[in-house]
Amino acid sequence: MSTATLIIDLDAICANWRALDGQTACETAAVIKADAYGLGVAKVGPALAAAGARQFFVAVAEEGVILRRALGPGPTINVFSGHMAGDADMIREGNLTPMINSVDQLLAHVESLPGHAFGLQLDTGMNRLGMEPSEWAALRDIALAQRPTLIMSHLACADDPSHPMNAAQLKNFADMTEGVEVPRSLAATGGILLAPDYHFDMTRPGVGLYGGLPFLDATPVVSLDVPVIQIRDVAPGESVGYANAFVARNPTRVATVSAGYADGLIRAMGAKATMTHEGRKLPVIGRVSMDLITVDITALKGTPEHLQLLGLHQSVDTVAGFAGTIGYEILTSLGARYDRVYLTA
Ligand SMILES: *Cc1c(COP(=O)(O)O)cnc(C)c1O
Repeated sequence: MSTATLIIDLDAICANWRALDGQTACETAAVIKADAYGLGVAKVGPALAAAGARQFFVAVAEEGVILRRALGPGPTINVFSGHMAGDADMIREGNLTPMINSVDQLLAHVESLPGHAFGLQLDTGMNRLGMEPSEWAALRDIALAQRPTLIMSHLACADDPSHPMNAAQLKNFADMTEGVEVPRSLAATGGILLAPDYHFDMTRPGVGLYGGLPFLDATPVVSLDVPVIQIRDVAPGESVGYANAFVARNPTRVATVSAGYADGLIRAMGAKATMTHEGRKLPVIGRVSMDLITVDITALKGTPEHLQLLGLHQSVDTVAGFAGTIGYEILTSLGARYDRVYLTA
């Protein structure tokens, strides 16, 4: 077998949820949009529910329907995109709670599904989703009369505790929701770590559950072991890979491993990346191909059967750094070809 093995530690995800929950006095939801950040919502959802999560968030109604099948009735499934045209059947049948983000969505929701639960999303400065302060001021009494289950907003700069945007958004959120008796939520992973005033009644961590920054103390969740297909000795002056991107200066042992950009190991990682073997870092050489990566294993004595890209020695954020991106993008790009193994005690 030459497909790489992606090991996903469900217990570590639950441990991260508990650790983030332990940092606040309020309820902790779980954000499992984009197939649980690429790790598999059908496994991650039930594991987190068993760990005690009662509130979940997905991006779109279609994801909510899939999650409802995995969770069964009971937990609340909130949908960030709100109530979009054509969503009413999914929202009703999946018992989903749309996070309404405009007057138009509110009207469509109460008209098509009168009495069906919904939340409200306010824009406190990010200018991405949610009602603007003026829109909210005009609609506030009408919206509150329909008894929303939650009022939420999202922080743009929470991964940088020193950024003045955090306090500005906190103030806007507090001002816009003053005197409102509905549960409130502002913080994702970054906001949990900022300070207790950001916590309100519910937090919404995503990336921290999956072992990513800014949750520095996260338990690692994923490891990716890639089979070595072939090993060869390359003489000085010989090149490796497309465009002769690597030319050997010294005698070099090269391992060709079985994963590439079609598996989410993005091409931009290129020359800065390393893989590891028993903790030893080994440079990726040449270009990342669709299905193959070449690695300089001259430093190794034996003949490795696998090299590791993700694991204890290199986190998703380390690998993201190779490509100038963020851990979120590495996680959600992990490919469909891997042999996925879920660990749980
Ligand atoms: C993705 C998302 C989250 C989770 O954010 P993390 O940074 O992954 O913790 C929370 N709230 C909203 C609105 C989101 O879009």
